[in-house]
Amino acid sequence: MAVSDSPSGGSTPPQQEQQPNKYAFTKPLSLAGPTHADLQRNNELDKFLLDSGLYESNEESAARKEVLHRLDQIVKNWVKQLTRQRGYTDQMVEDANAVIFTFGSYRLGVHGPGVDIDTLCIGPSYVNREEDFFVILHNILAEMEEVSELQPVPDAHVPVMKFKFQGISIDLLYASISLLVVPEDLDISHGSVLYDVDEPTVRSLNGCRVADQILKLVPNVEHFRTALRCLKFWAKRRGVYSNVTGFLGGVNWAILVARICQLYPNAIPSMLVSRFFRVYTQWRWPNPVMLCSIEENELGFPIWDPRRNPRDRFHTMPIITPAYPCMNSSYNVSASTLRVMMEQFRYGNKICDEIELNKAQWSALFQPYIFFEAYKNYLQVDIIASDADDLLAWRGWVESRLRLLTLKIERDTNGMLQCHPYPNEYVDTSKLCAHSAFFMGLQRKEGVRGQEGQQFDIRGTVDEFRQEINMYMYWKPGMDIFVSHVRRKQLPAFVFPGGYKRTRMPRHISHQAEKTGDDATKCYSGSGSGSSERCIKRKSCPEMVDKKPGKPDKRASISPQRLECVSPESCTSKSGGTTQMSIECIEVVRLAGSTTKDANDNCEVKSSDALPGSGLSTEVADMQISEPGFVDTTHDMLKSRSVEIPNEVSC
Ligand code: ATP
Ligand code: MG
Repeated sequence: MAVSDSPSGGSTPPQQEQQPNKYAFTKPLSLAGPTHADLQRNNELDKFLLDSGLYESNEESAARKEVLHRLDQIVKNWVKQLTRQRGYTDQMVEDANAVIFTFGSYRLGVHGPGVDIDTLCIGPSYVNREEDFFVILHNILAEMEEVSELQPVPDAHVPVMKFKFQGISIDLLYASISLLVVPEDLDISHGSVLYDVDEPTVRSLNGCRVADQILKLVPNVEHFRTALRCLKFWAKRRGVYSNVTGFLGGVNWAILVARICQLYPNAIPSMLVSRFFRVYTQWRWPNPVMLCSIEENELGFPIWDPRRNPRDRFHTMPIITPAYPCMNSSYNVSASTLRVMMEQFRYGNKICDEIELNKAQWSALFQPYIFFEAYKNYLQVDIIASDADDLLAWRGWVESRLRLLTLKIERDTNGMLQCHPYPNEYVDTSKLCAHSAFFMGLQRKEGVRGQEGQQFDIRGTVDEFRQEINMYMYWKPGMDIFVSHVRRKQLPAFVFPGGYKRTRMPRHISHQAEKTGDDATKCYSGSGSGSSERCIKRKSCPEMVDKKPGKPDKRASISPQRLECVSPESCTSKSGGTTQMSIECIEVVRLAGSTTKDANDNCEVKSSDALPGSGLSTEVADMQISEPGFVDTTHDMLKSRSVEIPNEVSC
């Protein structure tokens, strides 16, 4: 589907009443369609999504189409020019062609206002990426008035050129396929486009191939789109939308939702949303979520295969892309982020149950997660640089490594100290130097009785993290990082909306808000964006962390509050002069002994009835992965055997 297609795409599958097995490789869980009550809830959901500003205006939509059309002309002219310069015949020059495909949320038709467009340019075999795309096309774009913020990233896992065209953000990939002339109606879903190309090209082509496959494999594209839009919005509100932090990104959510569409082929969006939570609260990870069987072929590109690839066995939440070569799209997920997501799925499930009983409204589902009320202890990672440009680059590097800090802390404390990395970046505008911060919530593992005064010493862990951060190739003076332990009460003002901390409402009011999802009775006064979930938790959350009596609070040797900027060029701390490339680490996070129940700051939503572990179907039971027995069971799975369907999921 070349650029002239709308995001809805030309390959949209038919929308008639669905037959079992037509789109999925396993049986549906239910063929039931909507009841009258479902239809009403669906209307309410539609209205909620519309009111929440999730759809772009007609003007913006037209502007995007115009930009894509311009881009298509530019790449066509570029290829013609190269063909001429290389001495090909006049006929070849006339036939020379390049096409633009879209992928990502735009191609899936679920993009919101202001988001970027993921695009792929496909050119002929004699137009390469290194020189022709990253130098010649780059220079053409650089000279155009409409183009700004042009940034080539040739060394990325998927090489990309980023820029804005008439103010619209574009990610442009390039794939040269083994054809002398690229037909205007090229079918990239056909495996032949992968002949004789390298792996970066396969990765570049696969964004489009995956998006097209997803749209082909869902029974009703419009229902899929609405449900996906809704769940992406939900994930952002609940702090679990971010690939880089170890949560899930656009394609992962798309595959998860598409699977629910397959399992409930006649469900409408409101039903799909509630089934989403019902199924995934019971999912026994690391059973993979797949939309079709994993195909192998003679091209021999690596596919996700835990039988052969030991690394694949360690994936905690495999979500497999549906186009050859099938890969796990969620390799960044760790035990910590999976735990956080499962908690959020249970939260979603609970609210959806209440919505179905008319005890809550849709707005309750989308209550923002109040991260800074959720824990009593946090790890604060301050990132500083001399100016905004340096901070952008430095912050990107640190952010991409933060996932590893989480992993290391849990590894080094044998999982006793759990981390909840939060995807949001907080910018401190009060400093002269450029300064932003990321945070992680810390808690003792649930159900573990801590010894009185037990300490978690993670200095070595943070030091190891520092070694990795030190490997940044483009370090400049002024770039620095500090990791410190802060208690909730010590959180810096810049993390709160408007720079001040909200006060809590009385509990009976917050409970009321949770029940109704009523914006007028939010849990916290002030901004009106309280979390009903946190209100429930507070009820039974005793202090988990406390200072040992008579001992000083062992905070980080340089806490964020003690950073002072003396000039735009350098930032100093009170402890010394201009900082070098160093990390001052948290010395001790000490969690006081407590009973099992008391041990968790973040009192969990009751999980015994929601967690997987009992009552799964024979099919699922057969697929249970008792590490490291993954290999045998996966063998069956790869033969397209039915997997992963919890029979507790009622229809
Ligand atoms: P968003 O609305 O957040 O932009 P998106 O679906 O466009 O969502 P992006 O993060 O922009 O997601 O990624 C664009 C596309 O790149 C994805 O749709 C997918 O095809 C591909 N992609 C990104 N991350 C991965 C991944 N981890 N594995 C496989 N493909 C990926
Ligand atoms: Mg995108």
